[in-house]
Amino acid sequence: MWQPLLESFKKKLTSWKGRHLSLGGRITLINSVLSSLPVFLMSVYLLPKGTIKAIDKIRKSFLWGGEGERKRINWVSWKKVCLPKECGGLGVRDLGYFNLSLMGKWWGRLAAKEEGLWRKVIASKYSEGGGHWMDWVRNGAGDCSSWWRDVKRTDKADGESSGWLAEGFRLKVGEGKEVSFWWDEWCGEICLANKFPRLYLLSEGKEKECCKMGTMCNGTWKWNITWRRKLFEWEEEAAKELSTMIEGVKIYPGRPDEWEWILSKDSRYSTKTAYSFLTKEPRCLTQEKVFRRVWNPILPTKISAFNWQLLLNRLPTKSNLLKRGFSVIMGDGNCILCQEEEEDATHLFLKCKNVRWIWKECARWWGINLEIQEDCWKTFEKPGAWTKNSKIRKGWDCTWSATVWSIWLMRNQRIFQNQEMDPGKLFDLVQIRSFLWFKAKNAWCYFTLSDWISNPIACLTVNCGGKS
Ligand SMILES: [Zn+2]
Repeated sequence: MWQPLLESFKKKLTSWKGRHLSLGGRITLINSVLSSLPVFLMSVYLLPKGTIKAIDKIRKSFLWGGEGERKRINWVSWKKVCLPKECGGLGVRDLGYFNLSLMGKWWGRLAAKEEGLWRKVIASKYSEGGGHWMDWVRNGAGDCSSWWRDVKRTDKADGESSGWLAEGFRLKVGEGKEVSFWWDEWCGEICLANKFPRLYLLSEGKEKECCKMGTMCNGTWKWNITWRRKLFEWEEEAAKELSTMIEGVKIYPGRPDEWEWILSKDSRYSTKTAYSFLTKEPRCLTQEKVFRRVWNPILPTKISAFNWQLLLNRLPTKSNLLKRGFSVIMGDGNCILCQEEEEDATHLFLKCKNVRWIWKECARWWGINLEIQEDCWKTFEKPGAWTKNSKIRKGWDCTWSATVWSIWLMRNQRIFQNQEMDPGKLFDLVQIRSFLWFKAKNAWCYFTLSDWISNPIACLTVNCGGKS
């Protein structure tokens, strides 16, 4: 059943192979190919693990390949690649989780009491013993169809987040007809039978719904729980606690019981909320800030992707290639610009005597005190106190990106085409590139290239109006 899916993946992605695409372009394509796939099929069945693996293999080789016939290196782990951009990933869709969140829709449909033949079929099979849809899907047998078996498995399919779906739905009691007083989690995090096991044993009406555990009295609801015998004093304590707990919940005849999806604002299931729940990682706020700046929409995607790879120290510098057991073009691992030290990212972009002057020029141009830190991440993160103003920082981020990008291009020209670049020309390119990128997305900013060159901070603070 999954073979055609696999084939269409292969065909789509390989048709792009051989063309020269930047990392940014490949990221965009990977996600667009995925969204053009038969999402329908993934909404009805769970993909077998082997199929996911096979598709990911194609996707990986597409993401990191595409640069001629050189042997491919997965520069960043696939798990990380699939993280949201603000968490340091590329926002590439995780196929398994995407599949789960699509399948979760069936739970959402059941919860929303959506009508349909499929529901009638399931209800006729599983509703005999009473209970609601959650009981059917959690406890009922999976013998209805392979679709139904997968719907059931959706909640369990992910080892770590097992039970993720069932826990995401909360019962909001209305008329109480569907809600089992002792066995549903309608009041607090666990069901009352588990919270008060002793009382449960003593209660009359162990399987009763909420609506049968009290009466309407002059328009207000009164709970009435009865016991098989008189309670002992120490049992009374617990009974008191129980009635305080349920006191706040009233029964409203005629108002249906509802299931809320706790992750959505509107309480309805959505694949988006499910997917972001499944892919969530422990968050690091300072890192998030940096990654948000990296993926600032002002910048062209390929530049963001490049900067991302740089800040994670995953660019194919000579040092990184050697570490992974590759021999490097141009003999040794030394920096092509100075031939004195090993070419790692810190040296090439910040410390090399042949690039330090560019940063000095930038600082002079901007009229700032640029603090070069011990590596690229730290320098990008905290270039100096003057970046507190967010407009100035955005402009500077453009300049930073233009500078590191220009250095990289210069380095590649030297290595692959044996071409020298005039230093003055390099600095011109930094100024022009940063201007073009900033202006492309900030059309309301009235300044010209010569304004930008003569005083960028004035351009950003005076000529950019109120908007940012
Ligand atoms: Zn050097």
